[in-house]
Amino acid sequence: KSKQDGRNLIRQYDPQAQKVLNARMALSNDLNLALRDGQLKLLYQLQVDAENQARGAECLMRWHHPQHGQVSPVEFIPLAEDSGAIVAMGDWVVRLACETLARWAQVPQLSHLTLSVNVSPRQFTETDFVARISHILQDTGASPHLLRLEVTEGIVMQDKHEVIAKMRELCALGLSFSIDDFGTGYSSLSYIQTLPLAELKIDKAFVNELTTSERAQAIVKAIIAIGHSMGITLVSEGVETQAQKDQLLALGCTLLQGYLITRPIECAALEDLVISRHSSPMMYSLI
Ligand code: C2E
Ligand code: MG
Ligand code: MG
Ligand code: MG
Repeated sequence: KSKQDGRNLIRQYDPQAQKVLNARMALSNDLNLALRDGQLKLLYQLQVDAENQARGAECLMRWHHPQHGQVSPVEFIPLAEDSGAIVAMGDWVVRLACETLARWAQVPQLSHLTLSVNVSPRQFTETDFVARISHILQDTGASPHLLRLEVTEGIVMQDKHEVIAKMRELCALGLSFSIDDFGTGYSSLSYIQTLPLAELKIDKAFVNELTTSERAQAIVKAIIAIGHSMGITLVSEGVETQAQKDQLLALGCTLLQGYLITRPIECAALEDLVISRHSSPMMYSLI
């Protein structure tokens, strides 16, 4: 009832809070069956470079609930993390991404594209995480060099040495790492700089304010400087306007991802888009 306790505090006999909790539990139960019942799918969001050339895509999970319709990953990913369902769901995403990469390897206009997959802290903690990824790569025949794993600063909450060791093992297989939503977590720069990273992703919250807030602009500049000093790729997510795009490129950002380029779309639609763009001078932004 009273908001004074702070929003994270659920009071024992608050019927409203109990209702929310029950709804979450029901959704979490449904999520356990979502994978088995084919309610999950994967969308792909393009990443382009300064010349508007397609360089890769991020894989984003979608859940169509039989009663509630589309449920946002912002809502269901934390539930899947809590219940552990994320482990099987994560394997499914990696497998699908690798199957796509293997298929694209046969298509000249698509064979250079990378695929980025989000990996949650809970998935990464699994003791056999490296073995699972390795197994999927072998099974599908995907080139590990085109597979990128996006982790958040949240993984730093785990044992530092274990995290670095795991990342190194995976890098040795040929794949690469990206820090997602960089600058929104609690990791220290000294720690980040010890990780084997290929990419930093600038969070859409900063991109969103880039053209209106000097503070956001200073943060984006600083992130780009850090990335350049590490010699790695910088990807901006949530690019929605031409002004944001222009400014990000002027600041030295390498790749752009956002509604300005395309929304997350079905795999076949992305393939059509890249192939048609390849044979005509049309810009993605006009589609
Ligand atoms: P994220 O990895 O930071 O993904 C970027 C999010 O920004 C996506 O939200 C994407 O649809 C959205 N986005 C892209 N361009 C724009 C834009 O121009 N404007 C705006 N307003 N939004 C844009 P989405 O798909 O809802 O996913 C939300 C989060 O859920 C992801 O954030 C990621 O943390 C998580 N997630 C999604 N799929 C997976 C998955 O397969 N595994 C795991 N572990 N997490 C996932
Ligand atoms: Mg991501
Ligand atoms: Mg992100
Ligand atoms: Mg984000």
